[in-house]
Amino acid sequence: MNTDLLDHFAQQLDVLKQNGNLRQFSANVQQGRFIHIHERQMLNLASNDYLGLASDLQLREQFFDETPVKQRAMSSSSSRLLTGNFPEFEQLEASLSQAFAGRAALLFNSGYHMNIGILPALVDAKTLILADKLVHASMIDGMRLSSAKFLRYRHNDLAHLNALLQKHHADESIERIIVVTESIFSMDGDETDLATLVQLKQQFSKVMLYVDEAHAIGVRGERGLGCAEQYDVIEQIDLLVGTFGKALASVGGYLICHPIIRDYLINTMRPLIFSTAQAPICMAWTNFIFQHTQSLKQSRTDLTALSQRLQQGVRAKGFDCPSSSHIVPVIIGDSAKTVAKAQALQNAGFYIMPVRPPTVPQQSARLRVSLTAHIQATEIDQLLQWV
Ligand SMILES: *Cc1c(COP(=O)(O)O)cnc(C)c1O
Repeated sequence: MNTDLLDHFAQQLDVLKQNGNLRQFSANVQQGRFIHIHERQMLNLASNDYLGLASDLQLREQFFDETPVKQRAMSSSSSRLLTGNFPEFEQLEASLSQAFAGRAALLFNSGYHMNIGILPALVDAKTLILADKLVHASMIDGMRLSSAKFLRYRHNDLAHLNALLQKHHADESIERIIVVTESIFSMDGDETDLATLVQLKQQFSKVMLYVDEAHAIGVRGERGLGCAEQYDVIEQIDLLVGTFGKALASVGGYLICHPIIRDYLINTMRPLIFSTAQAPICMAWTNFIFQHTQSLKQSRTDLTALSQRLQQGVRAKGFDCPSSSHIVPVIIGDSAKTVAKAQALQNAGFYIMPVRPPTVPQQSARLRVSLTAHIQATEIDQLLQWV
């Protein structure tokens, strides 16, 4: 390549570096609730392994003991619409369907595929999307890829959403409105009032509700089916999505929906049609974990207690803390101060990542703590001494 061409990219990287925004991989080794980076052992407070299942070696061993080599297919070798539809996919969908009140279930290669695929497939020029201001990048990309108009409502402001619904529902050129939100939000750790949201949606006949439970599946509800189970609205959410890469210790995404929507997506959703399906062994592992997770009520209770301990501690230190979940931000504001604080915490043995704009709004740089069920209460107390 001509070096002038490379210079362009090198200069852009320099700008990122000068502003303290350069992203890099760092090699790490994980062991239980600890992470080793640059020869240093730290408590891992940046993990999405909320129930500690991804790091559970005994569980992994049990899975391999139960799964003969014949069933450990490491590739599906094609899309599910060609030859890739192994029994493991249908078994996992049947398990999901059974758990989620008999509704239809559809699997995706990742949560990102899911969110960039579903919206473009379902919408047309007569559809309006109304999305919470803080939805995940994957949903924003899904809206951008779609042919629908989209508007954002103020974060978690259902009165604002109501006003937008009142205004646009009457518009005859709009036939369908899709309201898009998360249940637990990834940067603030706060949550949507799903019961009220469902009530609101039921007042508008053109509205379909799309809720992403990436941070809630496994963690909330009696059986860990998410906030939808916790607030008893599984059957009222038209498009209930979630991911397997966080508490469920695997990889992939799922949708719980009406069978007609499932059939429609199988015929129209490009990331589903044009991408090789996950390896069957991943589906088998996800199913194994999904069954196991439903009985982990104690872990969920422990995680809730830890989360409340940290939220209260952070507030007692004088920080704003919008969290009501296991994702607990310490909002510092200034980016440089936040980076310095994260470094000091890492030096003290707590692996915490700083999150800066544009990932979060201007002047709201923060330490983002995500808790996992195997962390000890004493470790939270030690952490709080450093915050
Ligand atoms: C992590 C996440 C995703 C992406 O899921 P992957 O399976 O990691 O691609 C989607 N939505 C939300 C809200 C997430 O937090």
